[in-house]
Amino acid sequence: MTESQTKLICPLTARTIEAMRVDMLAASAEGADMVECRLDFLDALPDDEQLRDLLAQAPAEVLITCRPTRQGGQYAGSEQHRLGLLARAVRCGPVAAVDIEQDVPPEDWPEPGQARTVVSHHDFDCCPADLDELVAAMDASAGDINKVAFAPTNAAEALRAFDVVRASTKPTLALAMGPMGLITRLLARKFGCWGSFASLHSKAESAPGQPTLAEARGLYRWDAIGPATEVFGVIGCPISHSMGPAIHNAAFEATGRDAAYLPLLIQPGVENFSRFMDAALARPWLGLRGLSVTIPHKEHALAYIGQANCDELAVRIGAVNTITISPTGQLRGDNTDYAGAIDALCDKMNITRQALAGRAVTVLGAGGAARAIVAALSHYKAGVTVCNRTVARAQALAREFGCQARPLNEACQTDPEIIINCTAIGMSPNVAESPIDPAPLPTSAKVVFDTVYNPLQTKLLTQGQERGLTTVTGLDMFVNQAGAQYERWTGEKPPVEVMRKTVLEKLE
Ligand code: NAP
Repeated sequence: MTESQTKLICPLTARTIEAMRVDMLAASAEGADMVECRLDFLDALPDDEQLRDLLAQAPAEVLITCRPTRQGGQYAGSEQHRLGLLARAVRCGPVAAVDIEQDVPPEDWPEPGQARTVVSHHDFDCCPADLDELVAAMDASAGDINKVAFAPTNAAEALRAFDVVRASTKPTLALAMGPMGLITRLLARKFGCWGSFASLHSKAESAPGQPTLAEARGLYRWDAIGPATEVFGVIGCPISHSMGPAIHNAAFEATGRDAAYLPLLIQPGVENFSRFMDAALARPWLGLRGLSVTIPHKEHALAYIGQANCDELAVRIGAVNTITISPTGQLRGDNTDYAGAIDALCDKMNITRQALAGRAVTVLGAGGAARAIVAALSHYKAGVTVCNRTVARAQALAREFGCQARPLNEACQTDPEIIINCTAIGMSPNVAESPIDPAPLPTSAKVVFDTVYNPLQTKLLTQGQERGLTTVTGLDMFVNQAGAQYERWTGEKPPVEVMRKTVLEKLE
């Protein structure tokens, strides 16, 4: 059974009653609908006067919990004292809800008074094999609300939390813990979960994987999420560094689109990728409409979608970084890495892609970024020379796309009109380095493009500006590729300036 208004609950994990009171006010000021007083975190059990004092000042609804160690909590004392404390807290109220673990016999439950009873179960090791039966038993219990939290062993399993919320006959809070379960916390509102937890700050979480209140309400647009929200995300491993959530959520905010973009940690391996995709597509009500794909899953995405449903150049590059999912579950794969780079270049040169034909381009590097750019340049018939530290890699890439290959230190001898750096040289912290140094830029050069965006102003770009050349930045490329994703998914023009500003803020 779903709840019309999902509560954003802030767990209070302070060690003293006084600190808990301070945090309670701060949590409410940051937009928590409910605070969970985690009495098991307190160094000393409070007396009635302290409880009355604390609860009388609560600016938001209060959930009382004293989690025993057997359920992943901090309370190691006697069960009798623990249940006695819960009963006292309810009496000293006002208390909106009290949490009772499912393994407590109903005859031992404290008298709830005006409070609603949350019947809970926690599994910090795995997703219970009998999850459905467990929640069915909660439905049949004397409790008012069901709560189940588990640690998924893979990202696909995390989605089971939504299944039980949808199937239960009572208001239910179901969530998957840890980074793979973040989706279940952030989309709780979409599925009418009874609540979801967000901590006051990153060190105050009561269970792994909780976003902070500021992240939930800011970065992830908690308040804008509802039943019809379209879901987007970035798939990769690791994923916590990704700028995707900031840039795409800012874009959705700016255009007023009912959409959310989440980080989706999918462990390495094609089997993990496929398992998640199968699980997500088997749940059309999830509303998954698009995915950015990053390391190590770009090749897996191409294999999963199949060449026939992927952009021709994405197939040649061998990597899909953008998946678009239609309302009927049809998949399409694209590579906006190449599109972002080529369009950034053409925009600055004020030419069409077709006008790249015949121009001499030297690409420095032979890794993933170089591969996408070389494939696109060759496709548009530019004359490409690949220069790389490891010459054999340059030769292999050049052979594949019909280009020339040279060692990196011969880059200046290639007489290019356009130089594109796709190596990591000049990237923070090595900001004093340039891939063309100490040699001056070749006199033939008219355009310098550095794909490195951290720092924004690389030494190579400075060298180009000092010579009065046209410069293209890694930021131009990055914003363009994200904008191309937005356009693929929505069919609308992206709010490029908002996206650029968001990346700049993140980088600065
Ligand atoms: P990658 O696959 O690991 O390739 C790294 C490349 O850099 C290889 O060619 C490598 O040469 C070369 N390299 C690394 N350190 C070097 C050094 N000290 N001296 C000489 N060559 C060196 O990485 P990638 O994914 O292609 O990324 C490369 C760069 O592109 C990164 O700096 C990244 O910031 C940038 N990038 C930008 C965007 C954007 O949107 N703006 C997107 C993707 C990537 P060897 O083959 O000899 O090892």
